[in-house]
Amino acid sequence: MPIDSSLPYDDQNIFARILRGEIPCNKVFEDEWSLAFHDIRPQAPVHVLVIPKGAYVGWDDFTNTANDAELAGFTRAVGLVARELGLSSGYRLMVNMGHDGHQEVPHLHVHIFGGRQFRLMIAD
Ligand code: AMP
Repeated sequence: MPIDSSLPYDDQNIFARILRGEIPCNKVFEDEWSLAFHDIRPQAPVHVLVIPKGAYVGWDDFTNTANDAELAGFTRAVGLVARELGLSSGYRLMVNMGHDGHQEVPHLHVHIFGGRQFRLMIAD
């Protein structure tokens, strides 16, 4: 079910629990600002999620309230992870935001898809 992104941050969401080490993940990268791990239900040959360590529900509150260091650190991490995954022929980034974006986990995450060429645009 898509989330209601107007609700306050839920510190029991699955990615908050992964950040606290309460639930395992298949980690590919971690630094001061970000954690990246393989999606549990991959939808491409490479499907990795990058999440900020701060408590942000989605793209909206992150871009509205994160400080410049968090914004820069997280953005750089997404690029670094894609490079480290060897996606030199390209990749697709996706952020689902709120109900209409069909976001399901209420902690901001960027999907990195790679390992094949994708079609133009989006489909239902
Ligand atoms: P979204 O629809 O953008 O909120 O995507 C949530 C993503 O999180 C989906 O692709 C799920 O497969 C993925 N996911 C959910 N639980 C886990 C988990 N425990 N570890 C890794 N990925 C997960």
